[in-house]
Amino acid sequence: MKGKRIIFMGPPGGGKGTQAQRLEDTFGIKQLSTGDMLRAAVAAGTELGKQAKAVMDAGQLVSDDLMIGLISERVDQPDCANGFILDGFPRTIPQAEALESLMADKGMPLDAVIELRVPDELLVERITGRFACAKCGRGYHDTYQRPKVEGVCDACGSTEFKRRADDNAETVVSRLEAYHRQTAPVLAHFEKTGKVHVVDGTKDIDQVTADLVSILEKSTAAG
Ligand SMILES: [Zn+2]
Repeated sequence: MKGKRIIFMGPPGGGKGTQAQRLEDTFGIKQLSTGDMLRAAVAAGTELGKQAKAVMDAGQLVSDDLMIGLISERVDQPDCANGFILDGFPRTIPQAEALESLMADKGMPLDAVIELRVPDELLVERITGRFACAKCGRGYHDTYQRPKVEGVCDACGSTEFKRRADDNAETVVSRLEAYHRQTAPVLAHFEKTGKVHVVDGTKDIDQVTADLVSILEKSTAAG
């Protein structure tokens, strides 16, 4: 069985989405987020999709068994033939164990668990500094990307800017706390397998990609 099968973890604002997209393009592997898998199964009206819809319509959380079932179906599809990047799962140790046993049953062991690591202070600065042109949507940053002429949008000349309400420091800090609370035990669990790789997410975007590619090229589980 060929392919790259990885779990990718990274904090909000850490650049995980951009990097996952680049890995998709480089290796022809598919990024699988739990939200996307759920929506796709519901839209396709599969048996598991119907179950998931019923659970979500009732305002409940999708069970681990159901999510594992969805992952099981999803990774067998042709677009995952070269592998996948799992994003947003597992979030607990029982989920991690269920996933490992599923992949073992399929003869498709995980190759790597990658943690994109960025210090909280830097993430807070990155996220809270974001703002955008109110007219054309061009993105800016207080520190890293100010308009060329102060107070005037480079793209459209508008002088009105806006910030997302949830980009304030308090919200960002609480999102980061939730992220650490969730990922720390899962990472500790995977540490035992020797498959965890930490990537320094403070480097520039191309260097982070290069580091990720190098890890993926080296890590291939037997199976
Ligand atoms: Zn503009």
